Amino acid sequence: MPVSPPRAWAEIHLGALLHNLEVARTACGGELMVVVKAGAYGHGLEEIARTLANERIAFFGVANVGEARRIRNAGVDTPIYLLGPAWAGEREEVVARGLTPFLSSFEDAAHYDELAGRSGKRLRVHIGVDTGMGRGGFIQEQIPGLMKKLEAYRHLEIEGIGSHLPSADEDREFTCSQVSRFREIIGELGGPERFRWRHLLNSAGLLGYERELCNLARPGLMLYGVSPLPEYQDRLATVMSLKSRVTLVRTLPSGHGVSYGRQYVTTRPTRVATIGVGYGDGYPRHVSGQGASVWVGGKACPILGRVTMDQIMVDVTDAGDVGAGDEVEMFGSRIPVTDVAARAGTIAWEIFTGITPRVVRCYGGKR
Ligand SMILES: *Cc1c(COP(=O)(O)O)cnc(C)c1O
Repeated sequence: MPVSPPRAWAEIHLGALLHNLEVARTACGGELMVVVKAGAYGHGLEEIARTLANERIAFFGVANVGEARRIRNAGVDTPIYLLGPAWAGEREEVVARGLTPFLSSFEDAAHYDELAGRSGKRLRVHIGVDTGMGRGGFIQEQIPGLMKKLEAYRHLEIEGIGSHLPSADEDREFTCSQVSRFREIIGELGGPERFRWRHLLNSAGLLGYERELCNLARPGLMLYGVSPLPEYQDRLATVMSLKSRVTLVRTLPSGHGVSYGRQYVTTRPTRVATIGVGYGDGYPRHVSGQGASVWVGGKACPILGRVTMDQIMVDVTDAGDVGAGDEVEMFGSRIPVTDVAARAGTIAWEIFTGITPRVVRCYGGKR
């Protein structure tokens, strides 16, 4: 039986990913932890990890042990850093796999030390410091004497120190104060030489802030082609394009409602194309009524009415010849994902990670 092509697919340009990696590397001047959490921001964890396995990457950054396991099962042995805390039941696997966790408490430290000792290993760990994110790490008041206490754990090797920026794309003053605070903390804990790795900067931090303090950066979003700081967008190449096809084109008379709730009613005879993608694919329903467009027939064509689960209607009256089977770009090089995100009242990170498994990921364009 012939197999029909998918209704919605994501084209992922690996050459663009490698380009963005070089932009990050140049900006950083040091080494990179490539953040691949949440299935490499929806781009496909195994594929992206395999693509980057031989690109001189210091670490892959993942959200949890399950993601780390998938990278190992894909045959990739790049060191892996856990960006989120592991709970007690996961730590044995952390030690067994030699993943690199960050510490937020002495309970973490004691448990890792015990597990590492039991398996006759030394576990490499980083000190997490909370300079304003409020999500993990030791807080300011715990810094005095911290190093001495942690060095007492014989089976832990403190190889790094990291902190995170909550508002590098929103609040310059606060972020600069965080950078200084991180510098002071490193000073109090024995100085930069004490740590093999010092890391603080996400994409926005890496693009827009002082980099001398750190020798490791943790970019995520920028590698996938989106700059959190719009002024640097033109340095990056588009990696993902979400595509679909026209399934039907009709002309509706003036005064005809379109989609659920009849929020849109035609005001003229309108060529309406139905497209085979919807919120069930992760295209956000919240763009409904917000003036979003898709690229079809050589033009940006406005979405009419609400986004439905599997289908979307667009006005192609002013586009060229549009017929069933024609390709549509929902976002990508013509329609910026940031535009879709803004109209949906969210951020590009959420759009990427919200693309559902129904959307086939197609890889191409490797250098
Ligand atoms: C997700 C994450 C990053 C990457 O952030 P981007 O803004 O996507 O570059 C870096 N560091 C930590 C701790 C993270 O959780």
